[in-house]
Amino acid sequence: MTHGFDLNDRLQQRDAQDLRRHLEVAESVSARTRFADDPKGGAPVFSDEMAVFASNNYLGLADDGRVQRAAELGARTIGTGAGASRLVTGDTRVHRALERDLAACKGTERALVFSSGYAANIGTIDALGPDVVFSDELNHASIIDGCRVGASETVVYDHCDPEDLRAKMAARADEAAAGEDEQWLVVTDSVFSMDGDVAPLAAICDVVEEYGAWLMVDEAHATGLFGDTGGGIVQREGLSDRVDVQLGTLSKALASQGGYIAGDEVLIEYLLNAARSFVFSTGLSPPNAAAAREALRIARETDRATDLWDTIETLRDGLETMGYEVLGETQILPVVVGDRGDALELADRLRDHGVVAPAIRPPTVPEGTSRIRVAPMATHTADDIAQCLDAFRTAGAEVGVL
Ligand code: PMP
Repeated sequence: MTHGFDLNDRLQQRDAQDLRRHLEVAESVSARTRFADDPKGGAPVFSDEMAVFASNNYLGLADDGRVQRAAELGARTIGTGAGASRLVTGDTRVHRALERDLAACKGTERALVFSSGYAANIGTIDALGPDVVFSDELNHASIIDGCRVGASETVVYDHCDPEDLRAKMAARADEAAAGEDEQWLVVTDSVFSMDGDVAPLAAICDVVEEYGAWLMVDEAHATGLFGDTGGGIVQREGLSDRVDVQLGTLSKALASQGGYIAGDEVLIEYLLNAARSFVFSTGLSPPNAAAAREALRIARETDRATDLWDTIETLRDGLETMGYEVLGETQILPVVVGDRGDALELADRLRDHGVVAPAIRPPTVPEGTSRIRVAPMATHTADDIAQCLDAFRTAGAEVGVL
């Protein structure tokens, strides 16, 4: 008898289902960089330079000198690591300054930073401990995992469909004998990472308010990009007062690492006591906090996103003119190919033409909707954009999807 784990067998099953992933080394996080296959302990052997349309470093700030200097200063003046949970000795002035800036940006009383957006989702949903979570069917994995950990029951509603949400809340209210006493949380991404579309937040607020439930919005892909001060879709739609919990990450447009919750004083005071991923995890590292703070300042005070929107328009127009179907309405451009094999081959051919953009296939997206996810950065040049369009034209013809 054996009680161990046969991981080789599990990996082979993944191979058989075409679900095995491999690491690849990038030389930098710039809009153009070189890649090497997993060197497995040896020195990486890098490819030629490629144009990267596969990063969430949307504003291209992760290798910006101002943000790098802020991180250096954070490390030098405070330290490279927080050294303890924020509740012990890991709470420093840079954490407080970042949280003040985030709250000001989001228009909330207060904010709290976590070590990742993933940890913020899990810790927050778990700490709220809802009887029922109503969750959009395309919500991010960290929301799904938060529901698994923290919710007594999860009801999934149709993607971006407030009427389905209303119907499911009504059914639940009828069904639950003690329905009046239940605590309900509705959770949605604002920008969906695989479809690049935007949740109809005002209509969702209407439904949530009919039932006196709470609404939590994940702005991971929106922070720093939408709204007057980069406050996200909630800010752009003027809904700050109607959303109870705003979540985001510091790891995408804000060029760092970490996550945040923004909301009322009482929400933050409660979470810093009750969110286990905050209480029992070392505070965000000071250089990360300092970098995020500087990136947030740049996002708020400059028109850096303008270059990004120009790039997106050029790419969308160019791809559609070639005959591609491009979904979404945001900085994420999902180019639908349909067949999973075609999507994988197209991604490979794009690489042959010096462009990195990943194939997204089932189970991440529904069968028959495999796609290439094109994510431009504000630092892409006109040459990068031209190279991307040329690659899609040539590779698309080679694979036969145009
Ligand atoms: N929410 C969404 C919608 C995301 O896309 C991600 C990251 N892919 C996260 C949360 C998690 O954020 P982090 O990477 O900071 O853990």
